[in-house]
Amino acid sequence: MKRISNLSIVGLALLSQTVFADTLIHAGRVIKANNNDVKNNMTIVIDGNKIKAIESGFKTPTSKDTVINLKDYTVMPGLMDMHTHISSQHNGLASYLDGFKLNEADYALKGVVYAKKTLDAGFTTVRNLGDSYNVSVALKKAINNGMIDGPRIYTAAKSIATTGGHADPTNGRAMAITGDPGPKEGVINGVAEARKAVRQRYKDGADLIKITATGGVLSVAKSGQNPQFMTDELKAIVDTAKDYDMTVAVHAHGKEGMKRAIEAGVDSIEHGTFMDEEIFKLMKKYDTYYVPTVMAGNWVAEKAKIDGFFPELVRPKAASIGPLIEKTFAKAYFSGVNIAFGTDSGVSAHGDNALEFELMVRAGMKPIDAIRSATFHGAKLLKISDELGTLEKGKLADIVAVKGNPLVDISLMKNINFVMKDGKVYKFIK
Ligand SMILES: [Zn+2]
Repeated sequence: MKRISNLSIVGLALLSQTVFADTLIHAGRVIKANNNDVKNNMTIVIDGNKIKAIESGFKTPTSKDTVINLKDYTVMPGLMDMHTHISSQHNGLASYLDGFKLNEADYALKGVVYAKKTLDAGFTTVRNLGDSYNVSVALKKAINNGMIDGPRIYTAAKSIATTGGHADPTNGRAMAITGDPGPKEGVINGVAEARKAVRQRYKDGADLIKITATGGVLSVAKSGQNPQFMTDELKAIVDTAKDYDMTVAVHAHGKEGMKRAIEAGVDSIEHGTFMDEEIFKLMKKYDTYYVPTVMAGNWVAEKAKIDGFFPELVRPKAASIGPLIEKTFAKAYFSGVNIAFGTDSGVSAHGDNALEFELMVRAGMKPIDAIRSATFHGAKLLKISDELGTLEKGKLADIVAVKGNPLVDISLMKNINFVMKDGKVYKFIK
């Protein structure tokens, strides 16, 4: 035994001389995102897939080290989008036929392309809030195995709705073709089915739960905001999810549905269109995050102006609900609610995610807060702050950079020059 351990010590000593070379990022400006500080002329030392140190000045490399020169850039943690639909992208009326025409493989292939676009846009982590056929679970595995390039995916897989609710996949379709979907397909009624649907997602490999607590814009159904879950159903979802260490993300436009969901203990409200002071107060009390998706609101409002783009039942909802989200977001921000960045990409095009920064700042958010909503707060909402979300010693090396200063011109976030994920460089356009 003794001999073996001596040998391994010799082996380690050799390794430390030959293999342990670091990557040094010489950064002109650093936003660590753990607070509002911005530092100039720093070196981020990366060992493998982790940040080993962050030091002042430009550290001189040893002969083994690799230097990445980002002296003209602002360097920050990999961006996090808390609301994507990575395996689909809306295309107006045609999208409503996809469910009849596309198979699993079609969605999977779309997912491969959209995942790459998302990573190239600087988003090294996404929370995926709804897909078909659990494509996002397979995508996550393929990305984690290194088969394809994409962001770290935390997925809810198929969203959970009630019959006729926003994520009932059979809305607007002939009963003879679709039948009556149940918990497996993400449609529940009552406590037992709520539990079953959560457990099914656990079995499917989902990381969290997404429910549609109120009506929504793009579903073929009349109301865009009515409550669609009863309190006991919400409670059953939240309690069951907790048993599996899953968080619960909630699509909600109308006030009553959000109120019930927040009081049931969910983790985030998505869109939140008809929030008011009472809701802000509740969210602060229950520590609920708000994921605004301003760009989705603007996108549907724009498209509602085009004749024939949406089904007739959808168009008035898009026109009335869409434009409100930006104003709601501003009120929520100034009320002090915790905000995590989310785009609903898959409504708008994948890869355009950073437009949300521009809209947030236009609505009154400070640029540093917008960036922290997509880093620090994303990680907090995902409960992965010990590994990601800030640039700090010991964290995983998910790092992006943009030329110039996005705190002066937030639109620069749309042109991410450098993307590193897990210590590997995926993009560097000088
Ligand atoms: Zn969505």
